[in-house]
Amino acid sequence: MNTENPYLLLTPGPLSTSPTVRQAMLQDWCTWDDDYNLGVVTPIREALVNLASTLAPEKFTAVLMQGSGTFSVESMITSVVPKDGKLLVIANGVYGNRLAEIANYAEIDHEVHDTGELAGPDLNRLSMVLAEESAITHVVVVHNETTTGMMNPLEEISNIVKSAGKVFLVDSMSAFGGVPLDMEELQIDYLVSSANKCIQGVPGFGFLICRITELEKTQGIARSLSMDLYAQWRGMEDGKGKWRFTSPTHTVRAFYQAIKELDEEGGVAARYARYSENQRRLVEGMERLGFGCVLPKQSHSPIITGFLNPESADYDFKKFYELLKEEGFVIYPGKVTGVDSFRIGTIGHVYPEDIDRLIIAIEKSMYWVNQGARALA
Ligand SMILES: *Cc1c(COP(=O)(O)O)cnc(C)c1O
Repeated sequence: MNTENPYLLLTPGPLSTSPTVRQAMLQDWCTWDDDYNLGVVTPIREALVNLASTLAPEKFTAVLMQGSGTFSVESMITSVVPKDGKLLVIANGVYGNRLAEIANYAEIDHEVHDTGELAGPDLNRLSMVLAEESAITHVVVVHNETTTGMMNPLEEISNIVKSAGKVFLVDSMSAFGGVPLDMEELQIDYLVSSANKCIQGVPGFGFLICRITELEKTQGIARSLSMDLYAQWRGMEDGKGKWRFTSPTHTVRAFYQAIKELDEEGGVAARYARYSENQRRLVEGMERLGFGCVLPKQSHSPIITGFLNPESADYDFKKFYELLKEEGFVIYPGKVTGVDSFRIGTIGHVYPEDIDRLIIAIEKSMYWVNQGARALA
């Protein structure tokens, strides 16, 4: 059986997975059986809690949720902000704005602090507003804003949010498992991520790691039956790993394998080191080829990096993309408004040697983009 992929995904997810993660999907599972609930789901929930905090894992619980990552974000927001609560959304990109859109759909009272895609959060404004506006009960922020790859300063934000006594929610979708973090140290109450990002599983479900004392207060708040976080948690606790509705069994089993492989690699610190080296080689190589970065270097994260499209009239992103795909690499379009750019992800089953090969392939593709354009002229 051929388990090779025709190309490497240098995207923010779904991303390239190991052959062994893909092979783990070959068995069918019964969702009522202990083999699945006790043998697969329960150890995953335990492992996630241990990844989330080494200081105080006993204070947290992990809940798995069907759907793509957004479903889990939506589950979090619509299940924990009460009817008389108010959510403050810190936004600096597409994913931050999606948090506000979710609140809007669910008619949750909220306000948005949007600093635009190229700037970090306004911490002074955050402190001022939280001191003045007692109606705000919850604050939510994206950890790594995948629009640009910018890492938001969780520690500074948390200090402000917690000294004001608010509940702190984090969308760590594209960072969790690839960037070290301790929910207890950062005083995070709820954190959400999904199977197909830094833990390097396949898509199909997300997960929420919740501070138990907070989650216990949320019974009856949910605005949706299937995404009711409290009910999903009780289902998994009381049913010892049982999901309330059909679970994506093959995906969950693949995730179990992915978690084992994260441990074998040396845990989050080792993965962070690999992603960082991938990104370092990427930026160095791209700059050598003449590409500029969208963000200044101090705002880069090891997850994904934005590059400016060359201004040359011969250059055509679509053509560049297709040539690079033939060479075995898939990259990602840009998302920053008003900046003509593209993105390259450095997470997944991707190693520094792959980045070295990528740089050679980019150099070759750029040569052909320019040749092709010259031939047309
Ligand atoms: C990937 C991602 C999501 C979820 O996206 P889905 O397409 O629903 O899986 C949410 N937030 C961030 C920051 C992400 O990177």
